[in-house]
Amino acid sequence: MIYLDYAATTPVRKEIIDTYTKLLNTYYGNSDSLHEIGRNSSKLMEQSREMIAQLLHVNKEEIIFTSCASESNNYATKGYALHYQTRGKHIISTCEEHSSVHNSLEQLKDEFGFEITYLPINKDGVVSLEDLKKALRKDTILVSMMLVNNETGAINPIKECAEYVHQNSRAAFHMDAVQGLGKIEIPIECVDMATFSAHKIYGLKGSAILYKKQNVELLPLISGGQQEFGLRAGTSNAPCNIVFAKTLRLALEEQKKAYEHVLKLNQYLRREIENMEDLVVNSPSNASPFILNFSDLKIGSEIMLNALNANGFAVSAQSTCSSKSKAISHVLLAMGLGETRATHAVRVSLSHLTTQKEVELFIETLKEIHNDFRTR
Ligand code: PLP
Repeated sequence: MIYLDYAATTPVRKEIIDTYTKLLNTYYGNSDSLHEIGRNSSKLMEQSREMIAQLLHVNKEEIIFTSCASESNNYATKGYALHYQTRGKHIISTCEEHSSVHNSLEQLKDEFGFEITYLPINKDGVVSLEDLKKALRKDTILVSMMLVNNETGAINPIKECAEYVHQNSRAAFHMDAVQGLGKIEIPIECVDMATFSAHKIYGLKGSAILYKKQNVELLPLISGGQQEFGLRAGTSNAPCNIVFAKTLRLALEEQKKAYEHVLKLNQYLRREIENMEDLVVNSPSNASPFILNFSDLKIGSEIMLNALNANGFAVSAQSTCSSKSKAISHVLLAMGLGETRATHAVRVSLSHLTTQKEVELFIETLKEIHNDFRTR
């Protein structure tokens, strides 16, 4: 099977498996225990927090370990909004967010009386500063915007948007940077909160962080013990949190090389797909090269995915979290690409592990499937 679904998740690096296995055996102590076995776990976990902070150029106290990016997004939205609700009940986000942001905001609206403005996206899949300017109000307390869209790879103008918000309001700015980490530059210095996940950068599933500026307060969503600065109770997953630092270090060390490699593969795929009859590329040309979204106008997503799967290729149609709930891409619809493209979309996502041979075989198979369906 040829795996071209790295935006859904990545295989774990061998170095990470080796380190994690050692940690599981040795650092089993509860990091809150006062004895030496517990203290050893705690010490290493805090060293990992420190290293993550250094790699991201932030302070150690600003890194919160969580179980997944969905959880980080829940903290950044619900945790933030519920803490600051006396300041205002208006939140701005975009129509292209991951379900963990979108559904948290819908919950704030339905259960807690917040008002949410979802910014539209243009044909290139990004929000415009002008729309943000119009939406920002006196009672806006939070803006949540993704850096890289998980379906198209489109990159939002975070720096401009966050600067405008900070200069013109007291609202905090949260960035879901899950699809950007280890791939493109992260404008962390511009935002108040940011979400990152380990399993998208060849690390463990069930491992993520929330970056939160020191002056930002959150309502704890899990009450109990004092773990994670009192924000997230429950015995820390020390081995998992410890290995995050190594996962991040390796991803950042290889970022430039991976980017250049993937860019070439992406350009090849784009060229080939654009030259095929009835096929259109949906990702804008300046998107992150790690994601390429296209539609075969003659073959719906589900049929195409099954045919590719039967031929040994693993790809997605849209966000994996929405794959079982609906067959239409709300992101492509919001880009104004129409229903056919939105129901016929295929997302190919690439890695430093992807080879030129793999993408050539993919194109060959795509042509075969397309011709086969056309002549039926
Ligand atoms: N945000 C974005 C942009 C994503 O692509 C994903 C996963 O696909 C998530 C959040 C959720 O990540 P996790 O699986 O770690 O909860």
